[in-house]
Amino acid sequence: MPTLTRGQKISLANSPFRLRAHIQVSAPLTLDFSCFGVDGNGKLSDDRYFVFYNQKEAPGSSVRQVGDSDFELDLDRLPTTIQRLVFVVTVDGQGELHQISLGNFSLWAGSTQIAQFEFRGADFGRERAVMIAEIYRRDGWRLAAVGQGFAGGLDSVLAHFGGQEHKEPSRNAPPIPQPATEVASPQAIACVRCGKSAASWVELRKFDNETGRCSHCTAEVQAALEGLRRDFLEASKSGILQDEAWQAMWRRFDSIRQKITPDEALAFLRPDTIQFVERLLTMAGAEGAVTPASERYVKQMLNAFGIPADLQKPFKTRLQRFKAIAQIRGGYLPVVSSGPLHLDAGELCHLTVPATYRKVTTRSETEIPGTLLATNKRLLFVPISVTGWKMQYKNIIQIKESTESIYLGLSTGSGNGHYKVKDTGHTEAVITTLTLMAKRQLLGPQEVMTRHISHDVRNAVWQRDRGRCTECGAQDYLEFDHIIPYSQGGSNSVNNVQLLCRRCNLAKGDRI
Ligand SMILES: [Zn+2]
Ligand SMILES: [Zn+2]
Repeated sequence: MPTLTRGQKISLANSPFRLRAHIQVSAPLTLDFSCFGVDGNGKLSDDRYFVFYNQKEAPGSSVRQVGDSDFELDLDRLPTTIQRLVFVVTVDGQGELHQISLGNFSLWAGSTQIAQFEFRGADFGRERAVMIAEIYRRDGWRLAAVGQGFAGGLDSVLAHFGGQEHKEPSRNAPPIPQPATEVASPQAIACVRCGKSAASWVELRKFDNETGRCSHCTAEVQAALEGLRRDFLEASKSGILQDEAWQAMWRRFDSIRQKITPDEALAFLRPDTIQFVERLLTMAGAEGAVTPASERYVKQMLNAFGIPADLQKPFKTRLQRFKAIAQIRGGYLPVVSSGPLHLDAGELCHLTVPATYRKVTTRSETEIPGTLLATNKRLLFVPISVTGWKMQYKNIIQIKESTESIYLGLSTGSGNGHYKVKDTGHTEAVITTLTLMAKRQLLGPQEVMTRHISHDVRNAVWQRDRGRCTECGAQDYLEFDHIIPYSQGGSNSVNNVQLLCRRCNLAKGDRI
């Protein structure tokens, strides 16, 4: 499944006509998603093919908006006058596109993803609308990743496509009451924040329908929230958020906030608070140990930030995992059943996992399914059909974790090669620890220290790499990576350390 870059095009010749476009954006913005079916001149000559929140379906169900940000397409049903479908994201109300933390456009055929395209706030400046992607006819249908921004909002996009100048009612404005019906005058509606009523119909139109605030209050609230965000970024800059700074920031906000609920403020801060917790966890992972204090601190922050339970879960899972791996590396190995394997007196089994042995030579490639067992005395591979082999820990000279396997390098005896296992992290930790114990090399505090990247270096790297994977830009599951591996003489200096997400870090293991 290709990930497109801006400007890239792919053919949809082999895709079905029934497709689904899905747009996902995380940003503290109210966004509208629309699809323009335009003619050969790039003009919206038929209004009925402008699909948006007020007109959710084009003729013949050729384009149908489902939910807010999904479009079901049946390309076969589009008349030939429609040459392009352009997908557009516009900001409704306050804000600009640079506030996007991450956006993604993806195209699906049933449950199969055909292509995707990512975009970020950094791609934009003060624009308020973006043509994100288009599907167009040229020897069949094609998909292009566009990502072109517009200074104005939906109005300027409409102007671009030359649609009739109908004034689209903003979703956020209250439905304009006809003077003769429900509301006799605009003065009957008052702002929930300042209590002032609208002076005219034009002013009432500017009321924010979701919050019930007048345009003046909406602007003030936005300014207050942005001030709060600046304070938070400043207070958390060092990677540690002092309770005192957190309290002070809210006191300052309280003095001006007037009827902004904490929930609204916390939701506004969410991309930044999530990023802060990610940083805490990346640091904890690099420490190689999670102390009860740092665990408590992470949990305390998750709650203070009002992060919803479903978003908390992956962080908590990672914390548990760091703890488990740190225990193993500290020599506290879990004891598990050895199954049918007979153990000698004093022998303890620490690992029993399904594994597939893969040996690659220049001439052949062998795959043998079986079980990998590690006891405190030996490492065994027991295949399902053929005879297995035993490995001596003292002969193991290299253990390397990659995306889906563990590579074992032995100085002598059989067993060299890749072992495909489900949980590579756990398997690697157990075998490495047993090997070090057998060689009486379990890292003492002294050795841990030399391998250890200092707090200052970690902070400098985090700031230089802006809390993103240097390979793919991901902002989650981050780890500190030695560019030149420590085992190959790479140093612990800022120049030799970078942020990689777990996926890219493991993929790097595949290459080295
Ligand atoms: Zn007001
Ligand atoms: Zn990455």
